[in-house]
Amino acid sequence: MIDVACIEPGPGFDDRTRITPETIPDAAIESRVGAGEARYWKDCFDCHPDHARGVTDRAIEIGFFESERRGGREYVRQVARYPDDWFGRIVGIENKPDLGTPGNLENQLRTDASLGLFDEAILATASHVTGAHLNRIPEAIGVWRFDPETETREIVREPTPLAPTEPGLEPLDRGATQTDVRVVSVAEKTRTRRRLAERAYGKGWRTYGFPSCEKIEPRAYAGTNGLPFCRWKDRFVHPAAECAVSCPGHDPADPPDVDLESERDHRSPWVRDPDGQRRRQAGLDRFG
Ligand code: SF4
Repeated sequence: MIDVACIEPGPGFDDRTRITPETIPDAAIESRVGAGEARYWKDCFDCHPDHARGVTDRAIEIGFFESERRGGREYVRQVARYPDDWFGRIVGIENKPDLGTPGNLENQLRTDASLGLFDEAILATASHVTGAHLNRIPEAIGVWRFDPETETREIVREPTPLAPTEPGLEPLDRGATQTDVRVVSVAEKTRTRRRLAERAYGKGWRTYGFPSCEKIEPRAYAGTNGLPFCRWKDRFVHPAAECAVSCPGHDPADPPDVDLESERDHRSPWVRDPDGQRRRQAGLDRFG
């Protein structure tokens, strides 16, 4: 899986925001539940009925399906037609701060280039990038060097556009003399891209929590509120990577109360509380 996926809105983005702020399960999108006439839920899935039931319940809960009962059976339909064009380009960024400990990086980048799931793929690093590094990185992969001291980014090499609308090759087993590959169809790539975009839409932005540490506080930077600033390190920190009880400055305390969802709603095209949701929830409240 990619470290960062940058998903650009497509023409149907507004339609998507009106449905639900949550991730819509792929099985619900793929099912035969349409936006027209309501259908008996069991007739709409090819998977195991338990899974189909779980997906149906979740789709109703997040407001993607609406249901009605007829003759003791539950019929469902989409509240609005799912807009397949809600996202556009997807740029994948592999984060490898230290090229001195590359781990599996080279194989990962070769997979990114040959699979072509993204429109572009980029390696971001804080290391000095040498010619020897560049020779080992597939030509299509762009390279950024980020200097954490000055917070500047140098584009060492521009990415070459990949081909998400053509079949790709996924290397399976790299032997000494040969590599087994699997051909990945356009349909499979399209579905994987949609799953990735849906996951990002629901999960969003700044997916970390604030640590249970007295030294952390939310501060603003460049017009963005609620960023994690550590008074002990006297700088912004990445809680998932830097904060733990093993940190020498750690001082146990309740995490600050930060409303990241409001900030996301305010700063991005994601809509926290779409009108349709509000109407449905108001409707439900009346029966609560
Ligand atoms: S755990 Fe360490 S880095 Fe994180 S806020 Fe506390 S002192 Fe700062």
